Amino acid sequence: MPIWIDDVLSGKKKTLETRDPNRVGMYVCGVTVYDRCHIGHLRSMLSFDALVRYLEYQRYQVRYVRNFTDVDDKIIERAREIEAGPDGDWRRADRYATFTAADWALRDSDDARIRARVDQTDKPLALVVSEYFIEKFQEDFSCFGMRAPDVEPKVSDHMPQIVEYIERIIERGYAYEAGGDVYFDVAAYDAATHAYGKLSRRDAAAMIEGARVSPSENKRNGVDFALWKAQKPGEPSWPSPWGPGRPGWHIECSVMSTQYLGTTFDIHGGGKDLIFPHHENEIAQAEAACDAPFCTNWLHNGFVTVDGVKMSKSLGNFLSLHDALELALPEVWRFLVQSVHYQSPIDFSRTRINEAGERVRGSVDVAAERVQYFYQTLARADEALAGRTVNTEAPLLHTQIAGHLQERFCEAMDDNFNTAVALGLCGEAARAINELVSLKAKEIKKIGEESVAHTLHVLTTRLREVAGVLGLFLEEPESFLARFRAHELKKRGLEADWIEQKIAERGAAKAERDFARADAIRLELDALALELRDSPGRTDWDVRV
Ligand SMILES: [Zn+2]
Repeated sequence: MPIWIDDVLSGKKKTLETRDPNRVGMYVCGVTVYDRCHIGHLRSMLSFDALVRYLEYQRYQVRYVRNFTDVDDKIIERAREIEAGPDGDWRRADRYATFTAADWALRDSDDARIRARVDQTDKPLALVVSEYFIEKFQEDFSCFGMRAPDVEPKVSDHMPQIVEYIERIIERGYAYEAGGDVYFDVAAYDAATHAYGKLSRRDAAAMIEGARVSPSENKRNGVDFALWKAQKPGEPSWPSPWGPGRPGWHIECSVMSTQYLGTTFDIHGGGKDLIFPHHENEIAQAEAACDAPFCTNWLHNGFVTVDGVKMSKSLGNFLSLHDALELALPEVWRFLVQSVHYQSPIDFSRTRINEAGERVRGSVDVAAERVQYFYQTLARADEALAGRTVNTEAPLLHTQIAGHLQERFCEAMDDNFNTAVALGLCGEAARAINELVSLKAKEIKKIGEESVAHTLHVLTTRLREVAGVLGLFLEEPESFLARFRAHELKKRGLEADWIEQKIAERGAAKAERDFARADAIRLELDALALELRDSPGRTDWDVRV
């Protein structure tokens, strides 16, 4: 079956066509490594992770490239601040106005470690900064179990290729040197190709007409963008025919994507905010240098809000990956990201008390509860099936979902990677499993024991298979649920031992027929969102999210 995608370049829903029918070359814009990552990065990474996983499930051979921007203004700025030391004036800048004590603690410890490294190397400080944050990136993301890119190129490793690429664009008449800088000549390029603005649907002529050049700039037109920037005092630089300097931001992605995937490749991804100017300029540069279509399918993930508000440093509502992992386990974040279509906006919200004093559950807790539910469902099914031989000839129940889960999952994913619908189907399967494991012995007998077991077996196997494509529910339920419980208790400052002791006290009160006391203990635990389940001879407990 073909995969339908919502291609931003053509503005159409079309079938995914790749140069080689069995292979996909895919490039995703990575992060600029000047600080710790936040959940905006996580959303983009996890969205494209689901795509890669599904393409591989459909037997495509995927070559996945995701870059690190390790040469950039923001990195140089961070290096300057580190150089000025922890008491520098930079600390009073507006962008740090909302920093909390915890933010400063992390910041100071990162800076101190970077400073310690500088003494042991002759590399420029800016490169030590970027190397440090590449390591942090790998550490912080390692717990999410993402399919690693095949290549993770860095700008600083590709300077000769970038210079050569820029030279090609100049030779073709689409770029010019001015005062040690090199600019892309948007007017010349658009006059020859009528292609500038084709991704972002902007009117190039109007942009060229309306743009102003500030007197401090060497550009011919305000829309022209830098391919190469002459070195300013104190900045790291690399040699070039135009003097020492460094590349502009956009050129790296044109160079590195085509180097690893070929002049024309299949899928380019990134956040919606990158469509203009970054991706528009990537296309212009590549098609100016290579005279061939750059990338044929463009996919962009939607925006992220936190507690309903766009994330921004000045608002102080940045949710770092570090804080995110204190709120919920990695798999909960994966589930939450995939419960929303990759193109739609997503809100990461925390549980709060509203003005009327009511508890409003945030999307993070809702997702946590769902993940707990899926694992509990699988645990119950595994227990029901333990030690049984399944007769695969027995008639199947819940045929709509048991017999067709895989097919319907693929239909959802073939429709522009609709993970939200795909997870809805997983929910249908879980409901059917719960219905079966809740049947009374008499009902099982009436329906047919072998049918029930066969259906349970099919449902759990298929559920694990399709959810596994999205990187979900791959763990043994017992081990996941134990970690989940420990994480939730830690968040609430509770100890398992204390709960066990309370349950023992309740048992003793019951034995003494002091039911008022036993009830009071149950209510005390209930108020802490701890649920007790009595069965003959024992009481189990669990956390409620
Ligand atoms: Zn890029």
